[in-house]
Amino acid sequence: MPTYKAPVRDTLFVMNDVLGYERHSNLPGFGDAPPDVLEAILSEGARLTENVIQPTNRTGDIEGCVRQEDGSVTTPKGFREAFQEYRQGGWTGLAVPAEFGGQGLPYVVHTAVSEYMIAGNMSLMMYPGLTQGAIAAIVAHGSDEQKATWLPKMTNGSWTGTMNLTEPHCGTDLGLLRTKAVPAGDGTYRISGQKIFISAGEHDMADNIVHLVLARIEGAPEGTKGISLFVVPKFLLDASGNPGTRNGVACGSIEKKMGIHGNATCVMNYDGAVGTLLGEANGGLKAMFTMMNEARLGVGLQGLAIGEAAYQGAADYARERLQGRALSGPQEKDKPADPIIVHPDVRRILMTIRSVNEAGRALVLWTALQSDIAHRSADAKAREAADDLLGLMTPIVKGVLTDKGFEHAVMAQQVFGGHGYIEENGMSQLVRDARIAMIYEGANGIQALDLVGRKLPMHGGRAVQSFFKEVGEFCEENRADEKMAPFTKSLKKGLNDLQAATMWLMQNAMAKPDNAGAASTDYMHLFGLVALGYMWGRMVKTAHEKPGSEAEAFYENKLVTGRYFMERVMPETTTRLARISAGADTMMALPADAF
Ligand SMILES: Cc1cc2nc3c(=O)[nH]c(=O)nc-3n(C[C@H](O)[C@H](O)[C@H](O)COP(=O)(O)OP(=O)(O)OC[C@H]3O[C@@H](n4cnc5c(N)ncnc54)[C@H](O)[C@@H]3O)c2cc1C
Repeated sequence: MPTYKAPVRDTLFVMNDVLGYERHSNLPGFGDAPPDVLEAILSEGARLTENVIQPTNRTGDIEGCVRQEDGSVTTPKGFREAFQEYRQGGWTGLAVPAEFGGQGLPYVVHTAVSEYMIAGNMSLMMYPGLTQGAIAAIVAHGSDEQKATWLPKMTNGSWTGTMNLTEPHCGTDLGLLRTKAVPAGDGTYRISGQKIFISAGEHDMADNIVHLVLARIEGAPEGTKGISLFVVPKFLLDASGNPGTRNGVACGSIEKKMGIHGNATCVMNYDGAVGTLLGEANGGLKAMFTMMNEARLGVGLQGLAIGEAAYQGAADYARERLQGRALSGPQEKDKPADPIIVHPDVRRILMTIRSVNEAGRALVLWTALQSDIAHRSADAKAREAADDLLGLMTPIVKGVLTDKGFEHAVMAQQVFGGHGYIEENGMSQLVRDARIAMIYEGANGIQALDLVGRKLPMHGGRAVQSFFKEVGEFCEENRADEKMAPFTKSLKKGLNDLQAATMWLMQNAMAKPDNAGAASTDYMHLFGLVALGYMWGRMVKTAHEKPGSEAEAFYENKLVTGRYFMERVMPETTTRLARISAGADTMMALPADAF
């Protein structure tokens, strides 16, 4: 099994040096986690991951979840204990507002430490991960009574949450949804229908499960306009607020699936279950989006986390596995062969993953920081700008980092040769686990459409224009700096390609929407490359500014890795632009029956 070491030093570099974490100390919650506390939190999260969470990963994969005859679901050995330790450490409530029992710390801190835990065991971390999204939706849309009823126990992790959107005939197209809600006359509703693929829908790690369920109130309009969101607990609460009688919701079966075996993917049957409306009637999609936006960043983080775990496994293996001799002559003459890390093609794999991961970490944290500013700043202009960036970056973080996460897991598996294909070495699990992140929370094709169709034109293109301006100014300010020139030149070229692609879309997609659809995935990746390149620009600038010290090697490694990204990854913007400008005609030319 590959071992995992949480990259605390890298996180601190991004947070403190690149993003200027301390500059935001005036925002609520930031003062409670100054840099020394941030470091302590990350170190403790690293310890928990390495000693408690990661050791359950392989067992989870092998054992999987088991549905018992009575409909209960047993999680793999060690999950309950690891989750107990996680909740007792207060991790579930880290970023939840203090008034609901949380610690109210910055979301960016929660995001930073969650990367480690997800890398340790993605399946296990999905249970509290979904709970975070459910908490966010109740905080944003719940009545005072709903908040008081559900949030404290969800915050301390004794109850978990789920999101129930998908039905057998209704995945991406939620307008097709059939689950119905009938008013009971007492302010509650009776929910009936079937949901499928519900992550963490049933399990044995919490005393209650709070399902957030999309359903259509009887008589509501067809399509997405008639969808409402409901809180439906597994157990109804007794007079003192404790889990009492069983509600009319049960797990009918669990899916046998490619990966994330430790997370129960459930068919949930609702049969007159008691639920209360969350937010406004027919406003369910809007309310669910609060949950989904947070969840999308969390899924992007899964892509990064698995990519990092895969990288570490591959790097360790490449240093140890002896095969062949270096092209430049033997490196370790006393051994029968050199370690495979001497081979340029193995280096290509390691450097590619590493250079994207390091920028990916900066991108996720930068985006999470925008969420904090958007929700906590007293300055309306700052809130607006941060919210623009958050909206723009969410589909990019989700779509690009999860595509990369899977790609990286496969590339890292390649470093192991045949041994990567053998289960006991752990790389196969990473490949299988990473795959789902590209599919759920809106498949990546849908993220790309969200970017092109919604986020680009939003507020007359305000968000995208401000991103272009920020990156353009960065290039301009550093153009004359000799040390920065190789980086800014490549970044500027990428930005030019992105701006050309954006212009092409403006000119060609209005009259012919298929052009937007045909361009969307390439556009999302082109945007992602520029965003990652911008993160490298900022990291490299910071590394240059660090005075020579005993940590010099750390900064030198940053410069080399950043250079690799600019030389070998960034040039892909040219190909992406070429594909985008090819338009949809050829793509759409064959009749459906020719496929
Ligand atoms: C392990 C697992 C866990 C999950 N957890 C949850 C959960 O907790 N809660 C929940 O509600 N759901 C969950 N899901 C469901 C998941 O979110 C859906 O599978 C996903 O949204 C896609 O829906 P679908 O599978 O019906 O695919 P479809 O909607 O049928 O889409 C099939 C393909 O067509 C593409 N497509 C569809 N429409 C368009 C369009 N308009 N334009 C371009 N392309 C399009 C999609 O991108 C996709 O590639 C989970 C799924 C799995 C497998």
